[in-house]
Amino acid sequence: MTTEQVLQLFRETEALLEGHFQLTSGLHSPQYFQCAKVLQYPQHAEKLCRVAQQHFSKQEIDVVIAPAVGGIIVAHEVGRLLQARVLFAERQDGKMSLRRGFHISPGEKILVCEDVITTGGSVREVIDLAREAGGEVVGVFCIVDRSSGKANFGVPLISTLQLAPETYAPQACPLCAAGGNAEKPGSRFLKK
Ligand SMILES: [Zn+2]
Repeated sequence: MTTEQVLQLFRETEALLEGHFQLTSGLHSPQYFQCAKVLQYPQHAEKLCRVAQQHFSKQEIDVVIAPAVGGIIVAHEVGRLLQARVLFAERQDGKMSLRRGFHISPGEKILVCEDVITTGGSVREVIDLAREAGGEVVGVFCIVDRSSGKANFGVPLISTLQLAPETYAPQACPLCAAGGNAEKPGSRFLKK
């Protein structure tokens, strides 16, 4: 998929809204992004995850793993396309752990998946978890990389789109300065 095709899919599904928004953090932004909105359509999830398939199908992948919750849909679709086992990690007492009887065997080739990477903290924890179990992490795939190139895992990072967040404190917001009013995402759909 080209960048424009990915953006088009996000706009169509309202995963990406453009305008003037007040985010839950209180910051203002010309964009609102919610990856779950595009992933609610399995056919779109498949299209986006084929990007991972193209990159990793020539390699042997035994296990696809995601940090819960956002990455699970991505991992499941990528695992289906690559015919690999799919696991997810969850926090237990604050530490990313494998629960539910999930297991990684020494030497297994691991692909870590996530929906959105911002700082990459959760992905890094899952990489550590996989390595502690003896797995060999061969790459990371995410739908959207919001790290502005800052996420570096020491293995290839593949994304369908790089979309840096653009946020402003309300008093420094150029859209407010131009006389606009920030709306809360979702509110425009309630006015109908
Ligand atoms: Zn504003």
